[in-house]
Amino acid sequence: MNPRAIDTDERPFVLIWEVTQACGLACKHCRADAKPRRHPDELSTAEGKSLLDDARRFGEGQLVVLSGGDPLARDDTVDLVDYGTDVGLRMTLTPSGTASLTRERIEALDEAGLRRMALSIDGGSAAAHDEFRGEPGSFEQTVQAARAAREAGLPLQINTTVCAETVGELPAVRDLVGDLGAALWSVFFLVPVGRGRVLTPLDPDRAESVMEWLSGVADEAPFGVKTTEAPHYRRVAIQRPRGSDRSARADDDPGGPPDGIGRRTGITAGDGFAFVSHVGDVYPSGFLPEPAGNVRAESVVDVYRDSELFRSLRDPDALRGKCGACSYRHVCGGSRSRAFAYTGDPLEADPLCAYVPDGYDGPLPEQSFGGRETSSAD
Ligand code: SF4
Repeated sequence: MNPRAIDTDERPFVLIWEVTQACGLACKHCRADAKPRRHPDELSTAEGKSLLDDARRFGEGQLVVLSGGDPLARDDTVDLVDYGTDVGLRMTLTPSGTASLTRERIEALDEAGLRRMALSIDGGSAAAHDEFRGEPGSFEQTVQAARAAREAGLPLQINTTVCAETVGELPAVRDLVGDLGAALWSVFFLVPVGRGRVLTPLDPDRAESVMEWLSGVADEAPFGVKTTEAPHYRRVAIQRPRGSDRSARADDDPGGPPDGIGRRTGITAGDGFAFVSHVGDVYPSGFLPEPAGNVRAESVVDVYRDSELFRSLRDPDALRGKCGACSYRHVCGGSRSRAFAYTGDPLEADPLCAYVPDGYDGPLPEQSFGGRETSSAD
């Protein structure tokens, strides 16, 4: 489904449910600050099924991602995939690369109706990936799981975090994504939340050159390329010389073909995207931890459609700073999660973007977080 073929005032393109924060890995960048054990107050199986029933009110084929933590740290994951599929949802999963991701479980998920599996690979070698993931053997387990998913006929997505510590790995990861037969490579530009605060974001100029490189990869690769928390990838694609590929996807679009540029094409926090935490809080994204409601008390449909926070995030004219003055705000709009992480205001300018709109003479955002300054945007 094309993310802009739906009315994102009415429904998200993707609803993520963080089914647990439990995980056997200790990744340096973990948004969820994952723990070894399940939280005693996480949504139960019955509450989860009730959430899936409610999500179905968004419409037939609503895309739901079960994430974590490691969603396989729960023992009801296959049941949840089966239930969601039965009520008319498109169910996908982002398991961690651990020993629990066996061939048998992958086949059971496939039989339950899983539509896609997304696995994280942050380095092109076992040494680089395992160092980042904090677990020896994780690379090998992830690659084996990717091959098992393909053999089961499951479409595969590879997620990669890009920051100063991993940017040198991107060419090797690109090659691996092709070797594994993935349908989509999703490149996540670090937002410093959770344990990700210990990592170093790219500076805006480096981010710009990485996006230009990714746009070139998208021209050649047999798989799709999209960015997450870097909607200026769309602006970069528009600004590339005529004759180059002018398609680009940003944020979570695991299903559809690339869009044309020239209208708003991707999805961003609160606009085509919603996140339900392990205890039921509803956020615009997992990287924008500002709750707008809780599914134990309210319908996720009502929170998405009607809450003040979600509605403001769907209004490009509500943006502030240079994003508010930018002629690309209707096709880009900047990462609302990153603006929130740095300023506490989700409508402020995205400090990762190197572009300065013509005639703009207001303040430029700085990447300053936790006492570490990386670069200003000019
Ligand atoms: S200034 Fe903001 S809206 Fe304009 S391209 Fe950069 S991030 Fe996007």
